[in-house]
Amino acid sequence: MNEWENKQETKVHIVPDPTVSRAKFKPDPTRPGSYLAHPISIRALKKDIFVMGEHLSETEEVHTCPSCHVVEDRQFWHFCPHCESSWPKQTTHNKASV
Ligand SMILES: [Zn+2]
Repeated sequence: MNEWENKQETKVHIVPDPTVSRAKFKPDPTRPGSYLAHPISIRALKKDIFVMGEHLSETEEVHTCPSCHVVEDRQFWHFCPHCESSWPKQTTHNKASV
């Protein structure tokens, strides 16, 4: 676990891969510490989110996309990573019941 703690200061490297499902991140088997993600996911992703780490769960904003109705935590994304729609200004505070 020490190795992971040392890496928390480092920005995670994300490699575009169109074969990865949107809004998903797969560890890159050939490059330890890197992830594969769909190019749209990378554009939509708020890059700082990986650095913020533990604070995330406290500010969870679960949100249903009005266009494709996928539920995502909008704090991760600049726009919907599935259909590329912008988030509406108002947040619906739907807690995911998964
Ligand atoms: Zn959407």
